Parts: sequence; C-alpha cells; structure tokens
Amino acid sequence: MKSLCVFCGSSSGARNGYSDAARDLARVLVGEGIRLVYGGASVGVMGALADEVLAGGGEVIGVIPEGMMRHEVAHHGLTELRVVDSMHQRKALMAELSDGFVALPGGLGTFEELFEVYTWAQLGIHVKPVGLLNAAGYYDKLIEFLDGAVEERFLSSEDRSVLLVESDPRLLIEKFKLHRPPSVSKWAAIKKLST
Ligand code: AMP
Repeated sequence: MKSLCVFCGSSSGARNGYSDAARDLARVLVGEGIRLVYGGASVGVMGALADEVLAGGGEVIGVIPEGMMRHEVAHHGLTELRVVDSMHQRKALMAELSDGFVALPGGLGTFEELFEVYTWAQLGIHVKPVGLLNAAGYYDKLIEFLDGAVEERFLSSEDRSVLLVESDPRLLIEKFKLHRPPSVSKWAAIKKLST
C-alpha cells in the first residue's frame, strides 16, 4: 500500500483522544512509508493528522475544493495541495490517488465520505480496503447500528465484514496490508454500473 486516504473531522471533537488517535495513525503511516491523502485542511482532527505526518518527514497530499479554501483553512505546508472545483471532484481525486480508506472520528462530512467508499466497495466499483479507526469508542454506536442492519436483513453479513474495524491504528494497517479483493460474482456484474 503506497497511499492511504483518511477521512476525519474538520473539528477536534470533545476529547483529546480523537486527535491523539490521528497522530498515532500518522506515526504508523510515516513508519510504513505510506503517503497520506486527505481533505487538505489545517484545522481539527484533519490538521492534527497532517501536521504529525509532516513532522515525521512523511508525504501528504491535500485535496480541497476552491470554494472551501478559506472556510476550511487550507493547510499550506503540505507536500502538495490540489485545488479542485467541487466536492464531487475532491472525493473522486482522493479515491483515485489512494489504495485504501480509513475514517477517524468526525462529523457529517466524514460520515458521507466513509459511506460513499463503503457503498462503492459493496457495489464492486473499487476493491480497496475500507476501515474505521474506532478511537475512544466514538464509533461504537455506528458499529452497533450496522450489526442491527444485518439482523434486520438490510445489510448482508458479507458486506458488513467489508468494513474493517480496529481501535489501534497499527492493527488496522496490518489488516489493510492483508486485504485481498473479494471474488463475488454479483460484484463483477454490478461493476458495470461504474463504467
Ligand atoms: P466533518 O466531518 O463534517 O468535519 O467534515 C470532514 C470533511 O468532510 C471536511 O473536509 C468537509 O469539507 C468534508 N465534507 C463536508 N460535507 C461533505 C460532503 N457533503 N461531501 C463530501 N465531503 C464533505
């Protein structure tokens, strides 16, 4: 894995543990020589993550829509900052540049980004690993909700298991390295959706 896309909050949240987890993940990325791809902001959990990768000598690519440059306080110390026209282009470019996706704690933007790449994995639009770094138990209720969706038969247990969950970033990255694209026939059929 050469590049990892990380979705996370443009706010810091209520606990130091959220940014601490971002910095832990950053150190794992630097140690593994994995480039960070993220939303390009200098604030919140996003800023903590990027700053720690840069402090360790790692590479960071930020992708930010033009209209958000001021609103999100773009990070100007990155290896590269790509400015795009829209949110859709931002997500498409982040996906194209990355070999996998991780969500750290965040808000609506983070949820939307995570669920888009998770849904794309379900549909076979990509076969890259998708994971949740459950820092300070932030995602406990989401995990419970997804397990409930399996019980209620809106989500197959196979698709549920696509989302890799760990609270330790090192263990999550180990899982990513072991990830092998699934071979399920329905995915190949549905893959045509993306072409
Ligand atoms: P948040 O988790 O809400 O703090 O947002 C984290 C990141 O997601 C920020 O870079 C936001 O710009 C971005 N974001 C917010 N809303 C959306 C959206 N609808 N689609 C994609 N990204 C979004």
